[in-house]
Amino acid sequence: MSGTLGGIEAGGTKFVCALGSGPDELLAEERFPTATPGETIERAAEFFLGARERSGVTLDGVGVASFGPLDLDPDSETYGHITATPKPGWSFTDLAGTLRRALGVPVALDTDVNAAALGEWTWGAARGMDTFIYLTVGTGIGGGGMSGGRLLHGMVHPEMGHLRVPHDLERDPFPGCCPFHGDCLEGLASGPAMEKRWGRPAVELPDGHPAWQLEAHYLGLALVNYICTLSPRRIVMGGGVMERASLFPAVRRKTAELLGGYVKSREVLEDIDGYIVPPALGNRSGVLGAIALAGSLG
Ligand code: ZN
Repeated sequence: MSGTLGGIEAGGTKFVCALGSGPDELLAEERFPTATPGETIERAAEFFLGARERSGVTLDGVGVASFGPLDLDPDSETYGHITATPKPGWSFTDLAGTLRRALGVPVALDTDVNAAALGEWTWGAARGMDTFIYLTVGTGIGGGGMSGGRLLHGMVHPEMGHLRVPHDLERDPFPGCCPFHGDCLEGLASGPAMEKRWGRPAVELPDGHPAWQLEAHYLGLALVNYICTLSPRRIVMGGGVMERASLFPAVRRKTAELLGGYVKSREVLEDIDGYIVPPALGNRSGVLGAIALAGSLG
């Protein structure tokens, strides 16, 4: 598909909309807080209608990188909906259908993390890789990626943030904060988990604080599990918590230590710095990935 595309990063706290065809070709961009589904989707549609008119281009399709959970089964009656989300008012919102009707163009929907993975695959840190993962560690933890050149889908979609990891209650008595599982990975290692455990936001915890070693420990455990199940050629880690630069070396060290030399690949044995990396698109992987998703509609 050629021409101008739209991308929406639909987050629980903000929506980012962009019109264009790639990182260097954006014609318009807008971000606004997530309100009720009706207001928010209407505002997104108005952005595209207005930006299309001002730019004098045609809009060929829109991609949406959304918070979940999502129904991505094309045979399901609620295909394209956000399903049972804890976010008030948003359960069973027909996100893709409402946008399609408002804009009169095809709409592609995927998880925020799968879309970010697609963005990194198209323009960023995962170019040319048929099997890799993108993990975000922030308000929540989520993962997406590709296996054999296809975005990861299945029964529903991967829920990498809710992995069960060993929890040593003597070292870390914090019970975890996932409303479903307590001490799953997200319950132990998301930004809100760090804030609840240590009594202040992660961004305020200094580099030498024990919080960061514990965080690297949990993330290392998770990465080892992803490496052993998916055999990704690279792991891209984004999200607010990963903005702490010193966390990357600690996670790499912990992951290599936990792998124990067992996985015989050059990537993990000799180039762990090039194996676990930040997103090349920074915090724009999501919205650009949504544009890449729209590009795959054709
Ligand atoms: Zn959980």
